[in-house]
Amino acid sequence: MTGNSTGLADWLAAAARSRQQAGIARARRLLEQSGPALVSLDGRPLVNFSSNDYLGLASHPALAEAMCRGARAFGAGSGASALVTGYREPHARLEAELAAFLGYERVLLCASGYHANLAALTALAGRGDVIVQDRLCHASLIDGARLSGAELRRYPHADVPALEQQLARGSRGHTLIVSDGVFSMAGDVAPLAALAELSARHGAWLLVDDAHGIGVSGPGGRGSVAAAGLGQAEVPVLIGTLGKAFGCNGAFIAGSAELVEHIVNEGRTYLFTTALSPAVAAAARQALALIRADDWRRELLHERIAFFREGAAERGLSLLHSESPIQPLVVGDSERAVTLSDQLLEHGMLVAAIRPPTVPAGSARLRITLSSEHEEAQVDALLAALSACQEGA
Ligand SMILES: *Cc1c(COP(=O)(O)O)cnc(C)c1O
Repeated sequence: MTGNSTGLADWLAAAARSRQQAGIARARRLLEQSGPALVSLDGRPLVNFSSNDYLGLASHPALAEAMCRGARAFGAGSGASALVTGYREPHARLEAELAAFLGYERVLLCASGYHANLAALTALAGRGDVIVQDRLCHASLIDGARLSGAELRRYPHADVPALEQQLARGSRGHTLIVSDGVFSMAGDVAPLAALAELSARHGAWLLVDDAHGIGVSGPGGRGSVAAAGLGQAEVPVLIGTLGKAFGCNGAFIAGSAELVEHIVNEGRTYLFTTALSPAVAAAARQALALIRADDWRRELLHERIAFFREGAAERGLSLLHSESPIQPLVVGDSERAVTLSDQLLEHGMLVAAIRPPTVPAGSARLRITLSSEHEEAQVDALLAALSACQEGA
């Protein structure tokens, strides 16, 4: 009578034990208050160095106001897939405004970056095609490639000659080169000009996921593709998220009108999911307006990044090479990363320990993220705490 549920309980317990033994067990933290710079956990204020809210827009009053107005006018939820009845005025306006901002012909809003990557990859590649990806690409790009049925070839991080070798092996169908713009766990920028050159030379199509670049880097915050002097001609498929610098949730695919029409018809994770809330789209329009109008948030953010990197160099902390708000301190061992994160918590700082399988085995790290909302004194305190913890090790 209890056979099946006992089997499940035993199996779950064994899986939990093996996660525990490998030091990769994860748990959520319930925050009472959350902001880009300060959060509250168990009644304690903590400086937040773990958020992707790089410009502090998630808690910006103008976004909250726009969301309220959007909800009153259009409802809290979209009610259906975009192809049924879920596509509303705030969606259409946001798509047009994002396209104008990025200098792309069209933009298609998706429920999340994860949905966008699955939709794009499954709509653009299938059996007989090849997807070549940087080894550090985001999990959603790996999953999209797997789901597409195309052959997935991965090259060592940012290794352009290795990518070229993969391309030289050819394909029965077409080939898609796929890369993060700014790498989510390393913070560095892909060699985009070289990827564009190779894609042109080998007749492969280039998809760049700039989840951490758009809004933050490049001219006017247009991201790492624009920073490399590239656009729709060289990068015909560009992905961005509204969940990071935009402070909302949802995401988008930018490309030609034909590309967007194709994904509307063929992207199953676009078709078979409820459209983004129109209230969220209204808030994201406000975020885009602030991103376009105000350079000062980006300037402040880049000042904090430079301050952190200089301080880390002075203290002999070895960071990866990154000019983005993602500043990883690789410690190697998973347990050590967790211990350091716990110690920083004692110092009143929330810094995420990132372990395999999110990052390659043996490269567990503290993933420190900076925001324009951090004060210099908070960054200074983080540097002091990091050196104290490292010396204590
Ligand atoms: C966060 C992230 C995503 C997923 O975006 P969501 O909108 O959070 O689903 C996709 N790609 C990269 C590179 C990311 O960092």
